[in-house]
Amino acid sequence: MQNTVRSSIRFSGTGLHSGKTVHMTIHPASADYGVWFRRTDILLGDAMLPARWDVVEQTALCTRIKNTAGVTVSTIEHVMAALAGTGVHNALIELDGPEVPILDGSAAEFVRVILKAGVVQQNETVRAIEILRPVSVTRGDATATLSPADELNIEFHIDFEDAAIGVQDKSLGMANGSFVRELCDSRTFCRKIDVDQMHANGLALGGTLENAVVVDGADILSPGGLRHQDEAVRHKMLDALGDLYLAGAPILGKYTGIRAGHSLTNALLRELFANPDAYRFVDCDRTIAARLPGAGVHFGEIPAVA
Ligand SMILES: [Zn+2]
Repeated sequence: MQNTVRSSIRFSGTGLHSGKTVHMTIHPASADYGVWFRRTDILLGDAMLPARWDVVEQTALCTRIKNTAGVTVSTIEHVMAALAGTGVHNALIELDGPEVPILDGSAAEFVRVILKAGVVQQNETVRAIEILRPVSVTRGDATATLSPADELNIEFHIDFEDAAIGVQDKSLGMANGSFVRELCDSRTFCRKIDVDQMHANGLALGGTLENAVVVDGADILSPGGLRHQDEAVRHKMLDALGDLYLAGAPILGKYTGIRAGHSLTNALLRELFANPDAYRFVDCDRTIAARLPGAGVHFGEIPAVA
């Protein structure tokens, strides 16, 4: 069955790129509504934006959606991952600025508050997207692929010159709440050299050592160090889960990302939906529903840092 949140959930925090304080509320929504954003600070014109792949603007640093009136919401990927990972299918997310709060740079706070408020079952069946044949996109040395599998599996490979990140590989099935246990607390990471350049260009103005893991060569500059030895690749998997949820439904298939990012994952969804023979919608029976990312998640499974 589809799920929504039991009650409205409020957050406030700083936008990573704007540096401005944002207030955000996740409201319950009816079955088959999907996930929508609404900008409450836009008083004239269309302030509604669907959380959907076909309204994503191509950006390197975060995932931004834009409606036909030109209204945007940036950095939606972590809250989308939290909704996917806790099995919330329907929600209206209101915010009074152009960017979702970055919080600690992970999805842990979103997950903690969603599970604390509770997730309630609705009266309609979940429709999932079953991958029938592999689809792939490549840009330079980066590749993203979706291929057939019984449940959503996310596999990622990264390699960075900075020894603090280096080469990291991880593969994880998303059933049985593994997103909440294994991925949700992994933070955004960036290289000091890139941070300096972003600041010089007026970007990442809200970025601090409290909401991103900053690395410089072999050194971790953020106080407290890492939450996981391979936190960087775990965060890339978190981003992938959030970006894939813009498909509009849970995906039954395997995602493989090699040096991929937000823009490539979006290109992958565009490639998928351009090939109707590569997927089909399936109504989830009890067996399939038990394999979806949010099935069987318990509040007690949230990592201690949240
Ligand atoms: Zn991220």
